[in-house]
Amino acid sequence: MAFDLLIKNGMVIDPISKIHRKYDIAVDAGRIFSIHCPEDFGLENSAKDMLDVQGSLVTPGLIDLHTHVFPDDAELGIGADLVGVQQGVTTLVDAGSAGAVTFPRFVTNVVEKNTTQVLAWINIAGDGLCSGRDELSDLTKLDKENVAERIGQYPIIRGIKVRMSSSVLGNSGLEPLKIAKTLSREVGLPLMVHIGNGPPELGDILDVLDAGDVLTHAFHGKKGGIFKGDEILPEVRQALKRGILFDVGHGNSSFSVQTLQKAQRAGIKPYSISTDIYLANFNGPVYSLTTTLSKFLALDFSLDEVIAATTVAPASILGMEHEIGSLQVGRIADISILTIEDGVFEFIDAENKTFKGRQLLQAKFTIKAGKVLKCR
Ligand SMILES: [Zn+2]
Repeated sequence: MAFDLLIKNGMVIDPISKIHRKYDIAVDAGRIFSIHCPEDFGLENSAKDMLDVQGSLVTPGLIDLHTHVFPDDAELGIGADLVGVQQGVTTLVDAGSAGAVTFPRFVTNVVEKNTTQVLAWINIAGDGLCSGRDELSDLTKLDKENVAERIGQYPIIRGIKVRMSSSVLGNSGLEPLKIAKTLSREVGLPLMVHIGNGPPELGDILDVLDAGDVLTHAFHGKKGGIFKGDEILPEVRQALKRGILFDVGHGNSSFSVQTLQKAQRAGIKPYSISTDIYLANFNGPVYSLTTTLSKFLALDFSLDEVIAATTVAPASILGMEHEIGSLQVGRIADISILTIEDGVFEFIDAENKTFKGRQLLQAKFTIKAGKVLKCR
C-alpha cells in the first residue's frame, strides 16, 4: 500500500520508547504509519515522497512549555510560528499572556492563525499580560469563576499560570496563588508558578503547591532562589520529593548557569527545559529552543536528556503524553529534524555570563501533522 512520506536515514531519538538508533519513519495521512530498520526493504517503492535526513536527528516534535506568543495584545509577545514550526518546535505553550477576559481573542488571533500547535497556561488574572505586568496587584481582577468557565470552553488550556514575584504582586502576598490553587484542584489542572524577586519567600510558595505543579524560572540567579549561599533550601528538597516539577523558563533574566551548576552538584536537574521566549529575548540571550538545549549540552546534559526534557516531560505535564511527545505508530506526525554541529561555540545565560560548548543543535525541518516545513 502507498503512503505519503518516508523519512530516511535519520538517527531517531524517542525517549518514551527508549529508542536511539537509525530508523526510517513512514508517515501517512498526517500520522506515523510505521517506524522500522532501514534494512527492512520494500517500503521505498510505496512512498509518494522521500526525505533523506542522513546525518540528522529525528525526534518527536519539540514542545516548549513556557513561551509568550500573543504579540498584538500582550506586551513583548512574539509570533507563534516564528518560534514554533520555523524553529523545529511543533507545540508551544503560552504561559499566561491571556487571562479569562482576553482568552477568546487569543484563540482567534493566535491559536487559529498559526500552524504551530498552541496550548496555554491561562493567567489567573483576567487580562493576563494584556494590561501591564503587575497583573496580580489588584485582587478584584482575579475572577475564579470566569477562569473555570474558559477552562471548560477551551480544551487547549492545560493549566493555570500565576506569577509570584514582588513586582507582579504589589501587596497581594500569597492570595493569588491560593486562589489559583483552589481552582486548580477543582478543575484538575496543574499550576505553573513563576518565581523571581521576593517577597513572597520561595518556601511559602512551594508549600501551596501539589505534585504535578510546575515551578518555572527554577534556576534563576536572583535573591530568593532555590539556594541559600551554597546550600539548597530544605523546602526545595521537600518540594521535589513531593513531586513538584522544576522548569527552566530561560527568559531575559531567569536562567543562571551558576545556579544550574550548583543544582547539578546538589543532584538536582530540571524536569522540563523551556525558553520563556518573547520579543525582547528572541535576538538573545534566548534565540530559540534548540539554542537553549545546546546550552544544556554544554553543561554536560546528554542528548537523550535534553530531548526528553522537551518531549515526553512537557507532554506529561500537560496531561498529553498519549498524544504528543513521542514517535509511536498511530500518533500525529509531529516530528523535528535536527542537526548537531561540532565546534567551539560561545553561549550566554540570562545573567550575561558566557560559557563554551562543543555542540550546536539546530532545527532543519519541522514536520507538522505530516507536512514538511523547512526551518529558518
Ligand atoms: Zn514567562
